[in-house]
Amino acid sequence: MIISILGPPGSGKGTVAEQLCQEYSFFSLSPGRLLREEVKQGTTLGKNIKKYIESGDLVPDQFVVELVRLTIKGKKKVILDGFPRTVGQAKAIEDLKLNQVIYLDVPENIVIERFAERRVCKEQGHGYHLKYLPPKKKGICDKDGSKLIQRKDDKPEIVKERFKIFHAESEPVIKYYKKKKILCIVDGNKNPEEVYQEAKKILK
Ligand code: AMP
Repeated sequence: MIISILGPPGSGKGTVAEQLCQEYSFFSLSPGRLLREEVKQGTTLGKNIKKYIESGDLVPDQFVVELVRLTIKGKKKVILDGFPRTVGQAKAIEDLKLNQVIYLDVPENIVIERFAERRVCKEQGHGYHLKYLPPKKKGICDKDGSKLIQRKDDKPEIVKERFKIFHAESEPVIKYYKKKKILCIVDGNKNPEEVYQEAKKILK
């Protein structure tokens, strides 16, 4: 079973994916997290893609598709968090036959507000929101004890760029899956628990 969770930047895809993984033992794959890790480790791939990530641009399809394919090989229950983000990527994985695509619908102005308070942990990128999903101990990740930081690409000028790209490249992906009748829209403008319950209903 392969489920994809899509939505604009900051819509809460990672949070829903993490919750589904914990409750239903899905294998969750966030290309964004994997790609950032490559940059952090300074691998050859990381060096090639650093400029895209830091400017808020999408990493070229061939790198991402290959990474996704390799990572989910042999896995039975998979959640794709933020993939596919271009129609090219969607077509390149047509053979994987996604079962369901969940789109987290959140108005742009709300998401922009969220970014100011979004934090991730330095080690593994676990996500928090200072008001709606705060860590138990200020500034520290509940899961691995590492420091919470603001992502470089969560800064306002980069967020603007990410939105431009979302409208141009990722909205057509939503239409693509709507046509295929595997798209479900969840109102992502609610508190994280309500959003999760809605996503769960769809999977059930
Ligand atoms: P995210 O953590 O999902 O917000 O992704 C952070 C960054 O990683 C994006 O701004 C892109 O530079 C890159 N990225 C993540 N997913 C994809 C994807 N499916 N295709 C291309 N680039 C991606």
